[in-house]
Amino acid sequence: MDAAVIKRSLEGGGLRCTPQRYAVMAFLMECHRHPTAAEIFEAVNRVDPRSSRATTYNNLRDLVQAGLVREVAVEGRAARFDAKGMRHHHFICDRCGNVEDLEWYDVPKPASGAVGKRVLRECELIFRGLCTKCAPRRASR
Ligand SMILES: [Zn+2]
Ligand SMILES: [Zn+2]
Repeated sequence: MDAAVIKRSLEGGGLRCTPQRYAVMAFLMECHRHPTAAEIFEAVNRVDPRSSRATTYNNLRDLVQAGLVREVAVEGRAARFDAKGMRHHHFICDRCGNVEDLEWYDVPKPASGAVGKRVLRECELIFRGLCTKCAPRRASR
């Protein structure tokens, strides 16, 4: 991953490029497994053991607020995080909780009556079901 790209995206989000923040962003841009906050802390800590859990979690929160990182909520499990690169939808497996990316396609806008006075920021879809690993294999005949 190009260091300048990461630095630019942090600054574009109005964030100072501290070494710890950089490490969190760099890890998320390279990791496509939708890690949890604990996994992000472990990975960042492996590279730089000086970064505390609190700093890592605060940086993560700043990145989400700046719109650079997306939080994917999974009911009953720890939230997963995702650097916003290419837009995509998500698929969450009911059985193993795995979060996978699905190729982006435009979602039709809701009728204006349904939105009312709310201000829409974005709309993404979450598909649920069984992932390839958990789906029962069809009996071959
Ligand atoms: Zn699964
Ligand atoms: Zn994703």
